[in-house]
Amino acid sequence: MTKGEGISLLGVKERNRQQIKRVIYRQAPVTRQRITDELGLSLPTITTNVAQMLGEGLLVEYAAPSRSPTGGRRLQLLDFNAAAHYAVGVELGPYQTLFCVTDLRGKVCGSLVLEAADPRYPEMTAFVAQNIRELVRRSGVPEERLFGVGVGIPGFIEYQEGVIRTALHADWMGRPFVRDLSRLLSLPVWIDNNARMRAFGREMFGSGAAPDTFAYFLVSKGLACPLMIKNNVLAGHKASAGEVGHTTILPDGPLCPTCGRRGCLEAVAGESAILNAATKALERGEAPCLAALVPPGEAPDTTQVLEAQRLGDPAICPIMEKAVEYLGLEVANIFNFISPSLVVVDGYIFQLEENRCRLQETVQGNLYGLMAKETNIEFLPYDRLTGALGAAAFVVRRCLLD
Ligand SMILES: [Zn+2]
Repeated sequence: MTKGEGISLLGVKERNRQQIKRVIYRQAPVTRQRITDELGLSLPTITTNVAQMLGEGLLVEYAAPSRSPTGGRRLQLLDFNAAAHYAVGVELGPYQTLFCVTDLRGKVCGSLVLEAADPRYPEMTAFVAQNIRELVRRSGVPEERLFGVGVGIPGFIEYQEGVIRTALHADWMGRPFVRDLSRLLSLPVWIDNNARMRAFGREMFGSGAAPDTFAYFLVSKGLACPLMIKNNVLAGHKASAGEVGHTTILPDGPLCPTCGRRGCLEAVAGESAILNAATKALERGEAPCLAALVPPGEAPDTTQVLEAQRLGDPAICPIMEKAVEYLGLEVANIFNFISPSLVVVDGYIFQLEENRCRLQETVQGNLYGLMAKETNIEFLPYDRLTGALGAAAFVVRRCLLD
């Protein structure tokens, strides 16, 4: 056998093993026969690989609760041993820093919700490292079973180089965060844009299987819409793709402090834009419900603005309606452009049913050639750990399935 053939045989074996793991992860519990049918590989190939992974403690096997439809022995089902490995996920959010450690299936073994990280890069890096160590220690997860750490960061992230290109704070930009954090922790580290990490979270840990192609629309201080295409997030040449936040939607609209242009989606419908408009209404004395919720001299937050909308505040309701309509136009544009099987909407403001309905109506009113039933929208329930879970899912995906 030549050297080239040997490498290629190993490559085939490795590829088979990865394909088997992906089927088990996405379709568990499954039988060996089902994996065989799905992949078109021989049953002995499946059996050999499965035996190896059972021996490594990566898989578990158990008898199905009921007998097979043809009678006879109970079917033997396979799944991952969720406690075989763990991952740490972090989100450096604009308002808070979220940490979690999860097992292979996204069960949270420990979490921390802390203040937004320091704008100074060395302080931020030390803060993240210190709290990861503390979280791992407190969660009792065996360190030798940790795959590593994923960090989701708003902004343009050069994930392959492990460098932050643009971020919330100037001092973080251009920094080799992967190198610096992995040195402090002696663990593998991955970084990516936080919306992209969240899309992986929906794919890997979400309730109910996600279609292999979907769009993930994150509405926060910034906006982004990464696309999951055939189980992989579409990536731009150098950094993130899916930056819908800075696409212009109103050419004469308000100035965007992030991109410096007028009327981008973030400037008309991002949380900062909503809060700016609410603050102005409050200062003009036009928002009585909001005024009752915000202590004098303080700026409103999103929770208070949403509560004021729920109470029917005459100034806040039109602000929210307008913002949600712009967001709905963007979602309609996404459907018209690529017609994904699903758009997952992740945003605190969609806790209010009124906003969910308005977004749906706007989408329906702005479709071209698509029928309502072809535009499936899923609103994620709000969970402050969503971004950290997504970062942990990203690590599990990289280490287990890629
Ligand atoms: Zn902008």
